Amino acid sequence: MKKILGKIPAVIEGKPVRREENCRICDETSGEQIAVVDYWNIKTSRLVKCPVCNHIQLDPMLNETETAKGCFAYYIEEFLRTGKEEQLKNHVRNFRRGVVFGYSLKRKNISPRYGLELGPGSGYFSAGLMFVFPGIEISIMDVNMDVIDFNREHHNYEVIQGIPDNFIADLAGKFDLVIARDIIEHVTDISKVLTNINLYLKPGGYFHFITPNGHEDVWKHYLTSIFTGSASELLINHVNYYDGTGLKNLLIRKGFDTVEYYTYNFKYTLRGSGWEKNQKLMSPVSKRTDAGMLINKAAGIPATGTAKENILHKWYIQKKAKWITYLYSLYQHFSLIRISPEFNVGHEIRGLYKKSGHANN
Ligand SMILES: [Zn+2]
Repeated sequence: MKKILGKIPAVIEGKPVRREENCRICDETSGEQIAVVDYWNIKTSRLVKCPVCNHIQLDPMLNETETAKGCFAYYIEEFLRTGKEEQLKNHVRNFRRGVVFGYSLKRKNISPRYGLELGPGSGYFSAGLMFVFPGIEISIMDVNMDVIDFNREHHNYEVIQGIPDNFIADLAGKFDLVIARDIIEHVTDISKVLTNINLYLKPGGYFHFITPNGHEDVWKHYLTSIFTGSASELLINHVNYYDGTGLKNLLIRKGFDTVEYYTYNFKYTLRGSGWEKNQKLMSPVSKRTDAGMLINKAAGIPATGTAKENILHKWYIQKKAKWITYLYSLYQHFSLIRISPEFNVGHEIRGLYKKSGHANN
């Protein structure tokens, strides 16, 4: 163990390159190339690290059409890979996570009335939150019409078609809580996104997010680059790799105060992710997987139509004894070990921030 601790977090060294876009966090114009990546067969790009704030971003960035095509292909690939049973299990897991999060707010005397979830997926995290706060009204924002239709029909949420990068004036000052779980690693311009979220919140409103620890998330691409010199494959559009300190500083600059900020889940760290230079941890060398071919397969996918009551028909989900639901969910999802993201160790960063003022652009 001591041996490992001496090595982490390992330094990611790149070579100086001319970047096409300034750092989205600190506007720096110089950069270091960490890896070359192929986003499906859609675009070849680079992962470039900022020498000032340590943020790593895709350079050049994907445009909206490229993102839409790749995301749709990924959605189908994941659908074909996981199968229906596993998806239903994931719905319930997300419900339990929503319950745990809801009670964590309750313990802080926070009772949101209007919530907005960006990129809600199945919508079950917010459903768990609703179990704790029956009076909450949930709106969701997504770009994918399948996700929008599902959330409207299955959960009766208010739905908004859009992306977090584009400001929607109608939403300004409307929400007590904005949720972005596994979203900010996907956005083109994190500075703009945080400005928008700040504006969507009422004064004193809260922002909750989870996102991969960038250092560990980028490690596999870095290894492919140093071992093979070839491009690696980027199938999920993680275009941002956050440094724990850099992200925190940005949030504060954008008008948020830290309530909770920590990293958890060290399973991958213990397996070498983020520090061990081992070829087994590499991302596969790019085969330029054909996104169009996968999208063509979508026609054969049957629509999923299991009712919510059946999905949530579990012994521990009881409206009349919510403490049972809470304790079981806590038992399943509580992370005992929490450390500061500034160490850049661990799998995921979790944050709860409070709007303190308006963002400076
Ligand atoms: Zn920077």
